[in-house]
Amino acid sequence: MGTTATYALDPRTTVLIGGITSGLMALVLSLLTRATPLPVPGLWTWTAGAWSVFGAMLLLGLRDWTSNLATITLGNGALMLAYILWLAGTHRHLGQRMRWWPWLTVWTLATALVSWFIFVEPSFRVRTVVVAGLCAYLNAHHALVLLRHPRAERFGQSIGVSLTTTWLLILCAVYGIRALHAAWFAQGNTGLLTQGAVQIIYTGCFTICNLMLVIGYATTASDHVRARIEDQAIHDPLTGGLNRQALMDSLERERARSARTGQPFSVAMLDVDNFKKINDSHGHPVGDRVLVHLCRRMSALVRPNDVVARYGGEEFVIVMPETALGAALLAGQRILKNAVQIDDQALPPFTISIGLAQWSSADTSVDTVIARADAALYAAKANGRNRVELGGSAISV
Ligand code: GH3
Ligand code: MG
Ligand code: MG
Repeated sequence: MGTTATYALDPRTTVLIGGITSGLMALVLSLLTRATPLPVPGLWTWTAGAWSVFGAMLLLGLRDWTSNLATITLGNGALMLAYILWLAGTHRHLGQRMRWWPWLTVWTLATALVSWFIFVEPSFRVRTVVVAGLCAYLNAHHALVLLRHPRAERFGQSIGVSLTTTWLLILCAVYGIRALHAAWFAQGNTGLLTQGAVQIIYTGCFTICNLMLVIGYATTASDHVRARIEDQAIHDPLTGGLNRQALMDSLERERARSARTGQPFSVAMLDVDNFKKINDSHGHPVGDRVLVHLCRRMSALVRPNDVVARYGGEEFVIVMPETALGAALLAGQRILKNAVQIDDQALPPFTISIGLAQWSSADTSVDTVIARADAALYAAKANGRNRVELGGSAISV
């Protein structure tokens, strides 16, 4: 007593501060779970992991004040379990299935080893190599799951995923260094709470990393909700095509691009022929399914940059960037023939009519090109339906 160097912090303080902060963060995640306007896959599992870190830090911080079974076996067990839960949460968030049994087997083995090296052959050094080694591996694996996911490009826009991946890699590095340190150098025999700057730095690093990871999951969850709400704001709920507002935005973008580059763009207006009859003879739900089917087929038939939007009722608009009327006519004929093919035998046969128009420098607003496509559609209906008509005169760009 009183002979060891004194520091402003001791490992117990940093571990217990870590316990308190992770408890608060677990509380924040729990509240977020209840408060999100949309369900976030994996959020519950991340929250369970955060509570597990809280339990682990609290138990580890109680070292020497309560039984070794509680602090060492359960404390380390809860810590390793937390990282498994966080990994499971990420898999769930990405829509992947995680096989639990290999991880739970490894967890059981590691917990058994920890118990052996406290009750049978007490060795803080071996316990540290086992726990820190497994935690380093778990966090490296977790970071790789995020880095390897094909949606990673979209994640580039998700601050939450970047944050999580970064801190998983940092945590992995800290655990890796801790494990190698314990493997190569003798350790203080009083365990985790051995006084000394090194132990304070390690426990402080783990605390910061765990805190940042919880912030990472919370940010990922809010990114997810924001992306879903943005998605809903621009899509038609029935067909999944863009809605009218998104169509107008897209037309404005094309108008600006055309003014910049001098390249024309074309607009197709499509309408299901005699749709009222389909509704009357087969019922509204079948009519709905025809619309869903048509929208899906049109989206598959157009080029990736083309925009398929529901204009209203059974009318759709396709915006074809950098496309003159001649090429748009070919696309229109292809759509007329192929978009109505029915692979689902439960749908009645149907046809569509298409009106095409090209943006011209004489157009004063996007409404005029829409009006010309509409007039062409009207002509297609008047000329017997199931056909494509070209609209208007103002063609030169
Ligand atoms: P035309 O060949 O001249 O286009 O004839 P039509 O029967 O298709 O045209 P009309 O405009 O008279 O009828 C459109 C119908 O589309 C009327 C409306 O009840 C139906 N409709 C509009 N929106 C929906 C929808 O979301 N689902 C279903 N099932 N029907 C819809
Ligand atoms: Mg119609
Ligand atoms: Mg109509």
